[in-house]
Amino acid sequence: MNISPIHHPDEMLLFAYATGSVDLGVAYAVVAHLQFCPSCRSFVTALERIGGAAFADAEPQAVSRACRDRVMAGLERVDTSEPFAAPLRFLGHAAVLGNGCELAPKIRQVPVLVRGMPIAALLEGGPGAVLPAHSHASREIVVILAGSYSDDTGRFGLGDFVVSEPGTAHQPIADSIEGCLCYIVNDIAA
Ligand SMILES: [Zn+2]
Repeated sequence: MNISPIHHPDEMLLFAYATGSVDLGVAYAVVAHLQFCPSCRSFVTALERIGGAAFADAEPQAVSRACRDRVMAGLERVDTSEPFAAPLRFLGHAAVLGNGCELAPKIRQVPVLVRGMPIAALLEGGPGAVLPAHSHASREIVVILAGSYSDDTGRFGLGDFVVSEPGTAHQPIADSIEGCLCYIVNDIAA
């Protein structure tokens, strides 16, 4: 089965991700897409190598004992016992799922929490589920984790990274057989 996504983050966003300058919720979206997309993975790996080379060439800087202790403590906090899937684990922030609610018939939304704060959500639509028509107040990023959905702009499948700009509107319909599971985040920094 060919699972290469058709819709990708743009290069500016991948660059921002590789340099660690995107919000955690957006970073998770990129991580989720990278699980499915060899070409974006190669691009990010190349960016990270460039960053690593620049870092290796830099003059060593002394850091305080407190700074070193904070970094080491952060590394030790990485919790590998959380049962959630690898794509939602990032830089030692363990994501957990909050209590879900039913948005519409056959459509369930579950918040993704980091340290108790919602940073994004998982949206699960059963086969043929129709999300109410809605518009976006801020930029919205959706990554398809299973199944697919369609709206009047096309069909979006496994691993696709779908960006809806503020002011756009649509009415997604989950695949009639597989349904659709999405990671969804509002990119309020965009
Ligand atoms: Zn990609």
